[in-house]
Amino acid sequence: MVKAVGLVSGGLDSILALKIMLDQGIDIIALTFITPFCSPNKKEFEQRVRSITKKFSIPIKVISLGEDYIEMIRNPAHGYGKHLNPCIDCRVFMLKKAKQFMKENGASFVFTGEVMGQRPMSQRKAQLQLIEKEADLEGLILRPLSAKLLEPTTPEKEGWVRRESLLSLEGRQRTEQIKLAEKFGIKNYSWPAGGCKLTDPQFAARLKEAFEHGEESMHDIKLLNYGRHFRLPSGTKVVVGRNEEENKVISGLAQENNLLLEVIGFAGPTTLLLSPKDKKDPELAASICVRYSDFDKRGEADVMVKGKGVVRAGPIAPWRLEEFRIS
Ligand code: SF4
Repeated sequence: MVKAVGLVSGGLDSILALKIMLDQGIDIIALTFITPFCSPNKKEFEQRVRSITKKFSIPIKVISLGEDYIEMIRNPAHGYGKHLNPCIDCRVFMLKKAKQFMKENGASFVFTGEVMGQRPMSQRKAQLQLIEKEADLEGLILRPLSAKLLEPTTPEKEGWVRRESLLSLEGRQRTEQIKLAEKFGIKNYSWPAGGCKLTDPQFAARLKEAFEHGEESMHDIKLLNYGRHFRLPSGTKVVVGRNEEENKVISGLAQENNLLLEVIGFAGPTTLLLSPKDKKDPELAASICVRYSDFDKRGEADVMVKGKGVVRAGPIAPWRLEEFRIS
């Protein structure tokens, strides 16, 4: 039995690819990547992918991508798509890891649920070939949904896989995939699978701004998902919770050197001041915190700066707040 690594994203396309390969008698080990930019959240994404492979009784390996992935996002050799999504480099990065996993597990090739022409940046024929070459997997990546539109791969030439049973899907339409799902009895699928926040304009703008200020740790990236963000003149950042849930998360993400602020006596947000760089920073952060609180009087409110004591601050002027806001 020929063994192959199947890349699973949790969406219908990758489920169909799994089904087609299973029907061809391939021994499959599924592989999925969790990136710091998975949406809606990593836990939900992992659960979804695991439930799919469980249904097919396929073992799965989950790899969480970290600092080296972020480094690639900062400096992609092939540039970005519409926002901060370096899809070509991202695919190469993942496929290199898949190649290593393939070798470690005695598998002979990799397959994916990619459909030619579905994504403008990374799924045109020329780009698929380029990605294969850069991942050093030439001839060893089978795309069962579009295989008949592509050059025969090693698994097809070697007769491990019957080319005639593969498909020739192309483009962004999902009509054929929906028909196939019905035919195979696949229900409760979702798409797009594990949406990538790098394609979200607002998140991409925040991330770009963070990179420009040297904020690129996993912690910095995590923080981008919560609250309102402000850059103070000193260069440090203030994050303000938008609701109870975010207040809790932001509080939990505070690190040594960070300051947590809350208005005393009025409902309001948890406010996080990343490492202060100027003596005015706590005061400014406090005035932002007051602006988003229920403090409705003239003058100044008491603001608790955790571990440091109380400062007094009035709400920051709206025009000044907008100067600091990271869009
Ligand atoms: S959309 Fe995101 S996860 Fe998908 S290839 Fe592009 S950068 Fe990578």
